[in-house]
Amino acid sequence: MAKVKLQSPKGMRDILPEDQRYFKYILKKSDQLLDYYGFERIDTPMVESVELFLRSVGESSDIMEKEIYTLKTKGGDMLALRPEGTAGVVRAYIENGMNVRPHPVKLSYWGPMFRHDQPQHGRYRQFYQIGVETIGDSSEAVDAELIFLGYKLLDMLGLDNYNVHINSLGDSYCRPGYLKALKDYYKNRSKKLCVNCKNRLKINILRLLDCKEAECVELSKEAPQTVDFLDDECKSHFKHVLEFLDEAKVPYILNPRLVRGLDYYTRTVFEFLPDEENSQASVIAGGRYDKLIEVLGGSKTPAAGWAMGIDRVVLALKEKNVNVPEGLPKPKVFLVQLGEAAKRKSINLYESFRKAGIEAKSSIGRDSIKSQLRIANRLGVRLALIFGQKEALDGTIILREMDTGVQETIPLEKIVDEVKKRLKN
Ligand code: ATP
Ligand code: MG
Repeated sequence: MAKVKLQSPKGMRDILPEDQRYFKYILKKSDQLLDYYGFERIDTPMVESVELFLRSVGESSDIMEKEIYTLKTKGGDMLALRPEGTAGVVRAYIENGMNVRPHPVKLSYWGPMFRHDQPQHGRYRQFYQIGVETIGDSSEAVDAELIFLGYKLLDMLGLDNYNVHINSLGDSYCRPGYLKALKDYYKNRSKKLCVNCKNRLKINILRLLDCKEAECVELSKEAPQTVDFLDDECKSHFKHVLEFLDEAKVPYILNPRLVRGLDYYTRTVFEFLPDEENSQASVIAGGRYDKLIEVLGGSKTPAAGWAMGIDRVVLALKEKNVNVPEGLPKPKVFLVQLGEAAKRKSINLYESFRKAGIEAKSSIGRDSIKSQLRIANRLGVRLALIFGQKEALDGTIILREMDTGVQETIPLEKIVDEVKKRLKN
């Protein structure tokens, strides 16, 4: 049979053991912070009905136009791999009757997301997000708390080179006026737009401001700004969010061209971008989405949230050489075993160290003392235990101090206590 070379799908990669510690570190820090702030964990399926994303993310978004992975099940259902987390969380909130819980309902999640993006540095087709949603509270304090948490989390992770870009998109009362002004602006300039934006002009004009093509970025600079069209309520909401941020000492950049790729946002939108000039690789993005719950069949309920790209955080931690703890605790003891009888007894002996809370390692498959001691050396353990044929018969074990090479024979039943005692000194 000819050998086939199997590879992971394009844009999807393995997260190897040596990278797991970054994930562990990020998830641990975010748990610490989000638990304290009262966010409860929720897990939703990785696939949902296509309909859910059509209605939430929006038909004319990049996600629905070109990034969504859909599949038809054998039963004939049309499902999609989730491209983001908010839609599923809101669906779960409605479906599980969470509206009767005390509000706001604060939820967090993490897991893989799938988008048929163009793979490049920090852009994958399966990537990971941590996200938070605060449901059932329209107050400015919620927007500010969410932004504060994003800022704090990056800070706790050791990343201080990100800026919060913030804008307000208004709501369904004042946005139409803005969209009209935008249309007027682009009417005579459409020839200068990229191919995609020529289309967007008709379907979703707001997205022109989100385009990353140079010619569109240039045109957007003179375009009307959302903030000039906000009605009094939206203006006051935005002003208060900024005041809260000032009070919390979160620095921000007002970015009038910031719109988000998804349709569901109202009022506050924000992105955390690295401070290098022209970088478009956001690490956290989010905003308020007061209409979404109604759109998905719930009652009128305001909400806001954000999502952080874990993969981009890992890259940033590596680029900045942030000291991330090793994945596994450093072993202190290595158990060397020789021969059948010793090997058989080693399983229980090794387990007794775990129960005593002592970090030990062993290499149960190996037979040569030399190769096992070499591993012990490489691991940098302080003590090696040598358990051979003779010791297994006598009920003893040899304890060796690795740096001096001094050895002593100890009764087997005393070895855990003896190791404990020596590690204390
Ligand atoms: P971009 O403009 O970079 O495509 P986005 O606006 O599509 O990002 P969101 O939908 O707001 O991204 O997702 C929130 C976060 O998820 C982003 O800030 C980013 O960190 C991360 N993210 C989004 N798409 C990808 C991807 N394809 N690969 C890795 N991370 C991603
Ligand atoms: Mg995108």
